[in-house]
Amino acid sequence: MPGIILDGKSLAKQIETDLTQRVARLKEASGGFQPTLATILVGDDPASAHYVKQKGVACRRVGMDSRQVFLPQETSTEELLEAIDSLAGDVGVNGILLQHPVPPQIDERACFDRIPVEKDVDGVSSQGFGLMAMNSPAYGSATPAGIMRLLQHYEFPVSGLHAVVVGRSPILGKPMAAMLLNANATVTVCHSRTRNLPSIVGLADIVVGAVGKPEFIKADWIKDGAIVVDAGYNPGPIGDIELEPLKDRCRAYTPVPGGVGPMTIATLLSQTVEAAEKSLSAT
Ligand code: NAP
Repeated sequence: MPGIILDGKSLAKQIETDLTQRVARLKEASGGFQPTLATILVGDDPASAHYVKQKGVACRRVGMDSRQVFLPQETSTEELLEAIDSLAGDVGVNGILLQHPVPPQIDERACFDRIPVEKDVDGVSSQGFGLMAMNSPAYGSATPAGIMRLLQHYEFPVSGLHAVVVGRSPILGKPMAAMLLNANATVTVCHSRTRNLPSIVGLADIVVGAVGKPEFIKADWIKDGAIVVDAGYNPGPIGDIELEPLKDRCRAYTPVPGGVGPMTIATLLSQTVEAAEKSLSAT
């Protein structure tokens, strides 16, 4: 039987419809206040510029405002911290997104950690990660939080399943593992030093590909009936998992494109609207 398509594109559309109503209600209740996401792009990487543009367009689709800050390639850590501080102190900004990766001379972790937790709508700060890992309220890292929402939407009982996450980056693999653990999965995290990767992936009831290498995870490593989540987005676009041979023998899979990507943006918007709702209710 063909695997169920985990259709992130259509769920993201439903989420945006709901957000459009919430934004309209907020505007009405506050005399015109528009929830605002500030994005910071450092340097001229075309892929990053494209992602930032996409996020701005998505904000406008639901009636939010987006403020885009562009900084030159040679920006120092101090200069970027100043830009973050300025947005952190701006009451008109509800969420701050620092586009990853920043140029190599910048201490990215220090900059992520300067984003106040209440505006960390992309879930990249150490404080936000720690709270999320402890199952305390915090905005989750947008991509893994979007994946969890997609799994919940299709009502997969993650509890008790063995999830294998391939990749351990701070924005994707690590928070993904923590979220699956919080949902009572048994979690194995693999990375570039993992030995016998194919046999570990072969144990998975849920496989999450978060490596950044096109079709690196081979279909024949994955057992029949597994839930296949491909977070990879490589030029093509091609995911990190060899998907085609799996489509007829897995339980469910995220397509690339149209699976995880739209859920990342929908989650970012949701978390920004939530931050705006919280800031208005506090005034
Ligand atoms: P990253 O920071 O480069 O991390 C890649 C991870 O893969 C690392 O943990 C690395 O291990 C691991 N890895 C590399 N080679 C490996 C190997 N041979 N065997 C096992 N593990 C290996 O990448 P990322 O930012 O997490 O992104 C991963 C993918 O997700 C990319 O394709 C990216 O485009 C995509 N992505 C998509 C979205 C979206 O919205 N759809 C958002 C974010 C990212 P080490 O830690 O040992 O180096």
